[in-house]
Amino acid sequence: MLWRVREGVFSSTGFRIRAAQPAAATAEVARWVERAVASVFFTLFPADCRLCGSPLLRFSRLPVCENCLGSLRPMAGPRCRLCGEGLSSPLLEDRPDAVCGLCRRVHPPFERASAYGSYDGALRDLVHLLKFEQVRPAAAVLGRMLANAIAALEPSLPPGTIAVVPVPLHARKKSQRGFNQAELIVRAALKDLSRPERFRLCAGSLIRIRDTGSQIGLTRHQRRQNLRGAFVVKDPAAISGRNLLLVDDVYTTGSTASECARVLRRAGAARVWVATVARTLRVSESSVNRGDLLLEHSQEENLEEAQDRAVVAAHA
Ligand SMILES: [Zn+2]
Ligand SMILES: [Zn+2]
Repeated sequence: MLWRVREGVFSSTGFRIRAAQPAAATAEVARWVERAVASVFFTLFPADCRLCGSPLLRFSRLPVCENCLGSLRPMAGPRCRLCGEGLSSPLLEDRPDAVCGLCRRVHPPFERASAYGSYDGALRDLVHLLKFEQVRPAAAVLGRMLANAIAALEPSLPPGTIAVVPVPLHARKKSQRGFNQAELIVRAALKDLSRPERFRLCAGSLIRIRDTGSQIGLTRHQRRQNLRGAFVVKDPAAISGRNLLLVDDVYTTGSTASECARVLRRAGAARVWVATVARTLRVSESSVNRGDLLLEHSQEENLEEAQDRAVVAAHA
């Protein structure tokens, strides 16, 4: 959608002014006018929804429409009591103690993992909007969902203060992205909890010393190997003897959560719980066919790869 105003060209998704270069003396005034016009323009003509492309009816810091936000629903159906994986048998519907095959073979190094929604559709797009397009206001919405996942863990959490540890990014990746999405999301989540005083954010006590690159496309075993030695506890006093809540944006195979929990416990943590905004379900709720899943993964791999390459290029 384009509007032409004198020499200027305005679009609903981008904004630029095509005009003669102003004289040096008036450059500052011109910049101010440009900013003011842009601000009024975006207020009058908000951009399109960044998830579905439909026009936004009102101005918002988060360029996502009401329909897309309304489609962000919690997971339904039977779940593994320990890792939160979807369980396929309808017989398990009324069994809150049901455990998946993997957890039955080996208990995870954490007590329980809780996630708000399935990592697909609008929820996955919203996570991408934050991580790959740096739309920071998305963290507030994702934070509300993380708060929900934390509240679901509440009955299993011991009394007393819980130390909250965001899964860290490698310093190089964090500086390239500008933030650690897990930390941004949990800061928003803590404001939404009914008893925020129970949780104490311990960002920086766990660090990632090795950039493991994208984990997508690796088998569970390869992911575990790839993560060995990637995390270290920088501040053992902050976590020793404490009950911890590890938080992240997405729980994929659980390799990252498991490795972090293992390192934290080895450094003296009492027990570890895990909360994430989203979770990849092997048993898909929407029975997505295999081809779609592969396509979605390769798109995500491309985004991660693009960001990794940008990091390498910036440090070359
Ligand atoms: Zn939308
Ligand atoms: Zn399980």
